[in-house]
Amino acid sequence: MKKLICLFLLINSYTALTQNFSIKEKKQIDSLLIIWNNFEEEDTTRADAFQDFILTYFLFNHPDSAYLLAKEYYDFSKKKKLKYRMSTALLFQGLSKYFVSDYEEAIDYYLRCLKLRINSGNKVGIASVYNNIGLVYQEQGAYSNALTYYLKSLKIEEDLKNESGIASTLNNIGIIYKEEGDFNAALEYYNRSLKIKLKLNDRMGESHALTNIGVVYLNQGNYEAALSNFEQALIANNGFEEDLNAQINYNLGSVHFELGHYNTALDYVNKALHTHLELNDRVHQSASLNFIASIHFKQNSTIKAISFALRALKIAQEIGAKEKISDITQNLSMFYKASNKPEEALDMYILFMDTQEKIDRENMSNEILRQSAQYEFDKKIARDSIENAYLLKVSKEKVNNEREKKEIAEQKSFFLFSGLFLTLCFGIFIFNRLKVTAKQKSIIETQKKTVDRANKELKQINEELVLKRNEINLQKQIVQGQNEKLTKTLETEKELGLLKTNFVSMASHQYRTPLAVIQSNVELLNLLISSGEKIESEKNEKISGRIKREISKMTELMDEVLVLGKLTSGNVTYNPQEIDLVEFCNELIERFNSIQEDGRVLDFEILGEPSCISLDVKLLTHSLSNLVSNAFKYSTGNKNPQLTINFKPKELLVSVKDYGIGIPESELSYLFQPFFRANNVTEIKGTGLGLNIAKEYIELNKGRITAASTLGKGSCFEIAFSAS
Ligand code: ADP
Repeated sequence: MKKLICLFLLINSYTALTQNFSIKEKKQIDSLLIIWNNFEEEDTTRADAFQDFILTYFLFNHPDSAYLLAKEYYDFSKKKKLKYRMSTALLFQGLSKYFVSDYEEAIDYYLRCLKLRINSGNKVGIASVYNNIGLVYQEQGAYSNALTYYLKSLKIEEDLKNESGIASTLNNIGIIYKEEGDFNAALEYYNRSLKIKLKLNDRMGESHALTNIGVVYLNQGNYEAALSNFEQALIANNGFEEDLNAQINYNLGSVHFELGHYNTALDYVNKALHTHLELNDRVHQSASLNFIASIHFKQNSTIKAISFALRALKIAQEIGAKEKISDITQNLSMFYKASNKPEEALDMYILFMDTQEKIDRENMSNEILRQSAQYEFDKKIARDSIENAYLLKVSKEKVNNEREKKEIAEQKSFFLFSGLFLTLCFGIFIFNRLKVTAKQKSIIETQKKTVDRANKELKQINEELVLKRNEINLQKQIVQGQNEKLTKTLETEKELGLLKTNFVSMASHQYRTPLAVIQSNVELLNLLISSGEKIESEKNEKISGRIKREISKMTELMDEVLVLGKLTSGNVTYNPQEIDLVEFCNELIERFNSIQEDGRVLDFEILGEPSCISLDVKLLTHSLSNLVSNAFKYSTGNKNPQLTINFKPKELLVSVKDYGIGIPESELSYLFQPFFRANNVTEIKGTGLGLNIAKEYIELNKGRITAASTLGKGSCFEIAFSAS
């Protein structure tokens, strides 16, 4: 009875997860769970059922739940010593992380899975992990790494002659080449994949491959070839995969649009829209509506074009799809201009520029995060391979040591036996000493000397051996130390190179955006003037305000880049002097309090017994000002920020705390990198350089800075100086 209740509870705890499934699916789920929860079943049968449960119902659609279930599956497999299933559980956890874009975690799980699979020697399993690692790289835009892993996978699939695996990997490789703009290579791989799909009579695979080929031809401007491939793809799909069907219809619309067949294009895109509406796919609905708007515009139906574009815009705004908003507003600005409505055109243009700026910023942050993640990953891989090499070296050394020991032991026993033999002879001589003649006596003496000499030599050889061994050990340590140094230098070099490239590209990008905004506003002003309309002062202010804001942004950026330049060239001087930190802070607080528009002030607290400290005032002012200014800037509408000095016996702590928007936990580690701006600050002005400079200045001042933050609650930055 107890067991039954327990079973019931277990099933219920899982079925709570399955509320959104259809009745049929729920029935299938229940039957799988009954097997999983039946402790009398074979372990492998239970595991099969649970694996099926996770894979079929959760992995792709509910990755968060899938992650927890896969964790449970891992624990079970570990307990039951089902090694291959442990690796599958790790693969599932990796996939769940991949689906929620947590790429670093995904890679961690994949690498753990890979290790188990390499141990078990299951090649199909290894190939599938390689493919998944490739996919993560592809998603991060690290195409050459992705390609490396896909090729590894392909090699295994080819060895195993696993045709469907080969076809999928060829398709993946095709995608990489397409993304890199090598269309011919992409076509070659897609075609190879298609050939296999045809041979296997895999209609869905065929349709996907044909669509991919069509997209390449569309990109190349080979519309006839694109058309023929999309049409074949449509037949192969036969309406089976609805979203693919819609995608093909949309693509067909694109080809006809390029060929100037606007009515046919309209038919296809309408079909695509219809499916998107049925599937409630809002992103693609908005894209199709915008496309329909463009077609109407080409057909000179500007009013219809505007109405469709506005519908598209509404959806895009509701779901927050920035890329779509940018496309649509750009179109709308053009449509309004054509229908002689400069005011609406201007509004749309401003919305377009705003959105574009946000996208640029986000892309830049993502690029920084991507590069850092990639760098961390490369470091991990390098560390792993060094570790493996080291393990290999250690095991080799062990073998050598054993061999050396054996040789020494053999030598020792040789000498020991020779010694024993000689001693035995010597004993015989003594035993017979009464009979010995004077000649024999001298022989005995010589033998004795020989034994002594042999003993001495044995001792000497032993000492030499010990010396040699020590020398070898010393050499080994030196080589190891050099290896470590080399690895470190390589890492630093790589890090510096990355920082430099990052810096140059980020800096130029940061200038390009304000310049583009200024230029477009000037163009708009010209447009308004040439339209002959009177420019209202409100509009004039709006435009000139934007120009002024961008100029001040550029000036601020220029100042900070100059400071950074000075820092990296080592031109910042360090002039310490004894200061009264309390007085220093009071002056700083006064300055900040007087410029707050919302009337907030900086609360000040002093802990411990104040004492003087030797610091460079310029460096301290710059760094502390940045922290205080951020504390106000990122906590508008909240409590006063707080500055605290804590005079401790051995150190001095200066902290700046606020109760504002906080920093996302996943981004905290990038905080002090140049140009880093968190994802939650896109609406707030900034350059992303202040903290980087502050950290450098604090370190020049022989201090350390740390940060703690909780998203939505606030942040605390703490500087620690040694009291001496
Ligand atoms: P900026 O403020 O000009 O963007 P900083 O280098 O000073 O540049 O800060 C880098 C990023 O760190 C900010 O963009 C923001 O995302 C985050 N940040 C810094 N201080 C705070 C704070 N007090 N609260 C929330 N986020 C902060």
